[in-house]
Amino acid sequence: MSLIDRDRAVLWHPYTQMLTAPAPLAITRAQGVYLYTEDGRRILDGISSWWVNIHGHSHPKLNAALAAQACEVEHVLFAGCTHRPAIELAERLLALLPSGLTRVFYSDNGSTAVEVALKLACQYWRNRGEDRRAFITLHHAYHGDTVGAMSASEDSLFTRPFAPLLFSVARAHSPYCYRCPLGLTRSACQIDCLGDLEARLQEWGDAVAAVLVEPMLQAAGGMIVWPHEFLSGVRRLCDRYGTLLIADEVLTGFGRTGKMFACEHAFITPDIICLSKALTGGYLPMGATAVTAPVYEAFLSEDRTKTFFHGHSYTANPLACAVALASLDLFREESTLARVAALEAGLRAGLAPLRELKAVGDVRIIGGVGIVEMRSDQPGYLNDFGPRVSAALLDRGLLLRPLGNVLYFMPPYCITQEETRWAIQQITEVLLAL
Ligand code: PLP
Repeated sequence: MSLIDRDRAVLWHPYTQMLTAPAPLAITRAQGVYLYTEDGRRILDGISSWWVNIHGHSHPKLNAALAAQACEVEHVLFAGCTHRPAIELAERLLALLPSGLTRVFYSDNGSTAVEVALKLACQYWRNRGEDRRAFITLHHAYHGDTVGAMSASEDSLFTRPFAPLLFSVARAHSPYCYRCPLGLTRSACQIDCLGDLEARLQEWGDAVAAVLVEPMLQAAGGMIVWPHEFLSGVRRLCDRYGTLLIADEVLTGFGRTGKMFACEHAFITPDIICLSKALTGGYLPMGATAVTAPVYEAFLSEDRTKTFFHGHSYTANPLACAVALASLDLFREESTLARVAALEAGLRAGLAPLRELKAVGDVRIIGGVGIVEMRSDQPGYLNDFGPRVSAALLDRGLLLRPLGNVLYFMPPYCITQEETRWAIQQITEVLLAL
C-alpha cells in the first residue's frame, strides 16, 4: 500500500476538509529547498513548510546538533530542573532581541507562546493589584488556534465554530493600505488608522491589560505589510495609555521581514514578545515568550499565589534548544540576513511586473516574503483562487498555499537567485493563464 492509502485510512490533517481535499503529498525526503515525494517528484517548498524553515531542510549542522544533544540529555522536566541548552538559548536570544527584554519563558509552539503572553499580561496586572483584563487586538489578526489565541484573532471562518468558547476583545483597525479602512491612500495619509486604536484605548481605559499585534506583517489574516510608522505609533499609544504591548513575532522573528525581529523596523521594544516557528530553524516545535524586567518582577513575591502557574510537559525541550542554538550559529556562519536581503531583492525585481496584470490588485514585499493580492469582490480564505492556483503550481513543482485570493511566496532563505527566478516565472505563467 502506498503512504497515501495508509494515510487515508487513519489520519486527519489540519485545515483540511477530509471529504474533498486532494490526496496529500507523501514526502519521503527533504533537502535544502526541495521536498521529494513517494512518486518521484521534486517540489520546491515555497512556503517554508508553514513558515518554519529558514536554512533549508535536513541541514547537516542542524542534524548534527540534534543527534549530539540526543546522546546527552533528550528531555527533562523544566520545573525544578535546568540544562545548558535552555540556559544558553535564553542568553543568546536576550542578546539578540530588542534591548530591555530580560527573561525567557519557554513553551511548545506559536499558539502557546501567545497564550503565555496573554496570561502573563493578565496576571501582571492582578499581581500589581489592578483589575485589567481587556485585550485590544487588530482586525485581520491571526495569533493561533488555542482558545486564547483564537479569541485574540480576527472573528473569522477559523474561529466562528468556537465562538461560545472565546472571550471578547476590542478590535482596532490595522494598516491594510490596499484596502484602507478609512478609504485613504498611503501617499496622502498620516497613518490615520492609528486613531482607531487610540479610540479603543480611550473607551476601555484602565481595563486594558495589553495591546497585541503581529508587527509589520499580519500573516494568516491576509499577508498585510505595515508601514513601520504604524508600529512605532502602537508603541507610543501603549506608553501614553500606560498599558502593555505584546508583539507576536511567531512568524516575523528570525529574519523573515529582513530584520532579525520585526520590531527593529520601528526601533521599539515590546513589553512581551512571542517567538516560535523559525526559532528551531524549522526542526522542532518550540515557543518562547520573553518579557521585560518590570513584567518579570511583578511575579516575584513571598506570596505564592503570585506565581505564574503555567507549564507544558515538553517545556524547554533540550533537543529543540540545541537545534535552535545551532540555527542561531548558522545566522553568523551563513550570513543568513544577507541571504534574506538578496531574496528580497529578487522578489522585488521578479514580482514588480505583476502589478501590471489586470487581475492583480496589489503586490507587497517585505524581507523574504513576496505577496500578490488578486482583485476580488469576495476576498477571504474561501475564495476559490487559492485551490485552483496551488494545484496549477504544484503541477509545475512549486508548493504554495494561497490564503484565498492572496498568493504569497515565502521560501527558506537558502534559496538561490536562480531558484527564486524560476519560482516567480511559474507564478507569473500561472497567473497569466487564469
Ligand atoms: N502567531 C502568528 C503570527 C502565526 O502566524 C501563527 C501561525 O501561523 C501562530 C501565532 C500560531 O503558531 P502555531 O501554529 O505554531 O501554533
